[in-house]
Amino acid sequence: MIATDLRSGVEQLGDMIAEASTIVPFTGAGISTESGIPDFRSPGGLWTRNRPIPFDEFVASPDARDESWRRRFAMEPTFAAARPGRGHRALASLYKAGKIPAIVTQNIDNLHQMSGFAAEHVVELHGNTTYARCIGCGLAYDLAWVRLRFEETGGAPGCASCHEPVKTATISFGQAMPEDAMRRATELAQHCDLFIAIGSSLVVWPAAGFPMLAKNCGARLVIINNEPTEQDDIADLVIRHDIGETLGPFVGN
Ligand code: NAD
Repeated sequence: MIATDLRSGVEQLGDMIAEASTIVPFTGAGISTESGIPDFRSPGGLWTRNRPIPFDEFVASPDARDESWRRRFAMEPTFAAARPGRGHRALASLYKAGKIPAIVTQNIDNLHQMSGFAAEHVVELHGNTTYARCIGCGLAYDLAWVRLRFEETGGAPGCASCHEPVKTATISFGQAMPEDAMRRATELAQHCDLFIAIGSSLVVWPAAGFPMLAKNCGARLVIINNEPTEQDDIADLVIRHDIGETLGPFVGN
């Protein structure tokens, strides 16, 4: 059911939150646009400017690796300046109140951790862009280390230990999904009584399967997004408004 207006949507969401004992939020890039990080698919979003570099291309091509790192460095002022918005803060309030055991996110921006979620309670389906990893041995690196090497040599560095390429700790198209995160997200979706999909176009699979899974396992499903999604028709409540406006009333003290 689509909320007729923002006020009735917020009221209905408030009732559902009060009635729920276990809430699992599932967030996409739309929750972070208020924080100044562009999403993928909106006008002006990242995809309208840059074609994503698939994983096999990153592995095979030094040029693709250099380009990928150039793009990441260009985004650094945006990521470094981003602070949690009203959506992040509202979810952190519900987490502190004991309603949310953990959050499932497609985002890579670290803003849920920054808003107050313990790192072990943020299930990152697509990894995290605030640090890097060797794709061979998995050794973690600070971005500053990568940048220094890039500036010294003019190209993307290899791992200091095994010499395989170093990549942001994100999951690219064509890269295997992280098994542990997929398992935890599945369990959370199966065992909640309210699942709230926030700011995701719900077109990136397999992540987009979790709202449907939660619904099939008996949870109520709420979708908050300013444009229609393909799963609106299975949702118990659709709030087609701005996320900050919708979740702002749930930010605690
Ligand atoms: P998407 O860009 O496909 O969809 C975002 C959705 O949020 C859109 O439908 C858009 O209309 C909506 N939206 C944007 N701002 C909104 C607002 N203020 N209020 C209400 N709705 C709003 O994002 P996705 O589904 O998360 O898929 C993109 C993939 O790209 C993700 O898997 C993620 O890994 C990655 N990504 C992450 C970030 C980030 O970490 N912040 C940013 C861009 C892309």
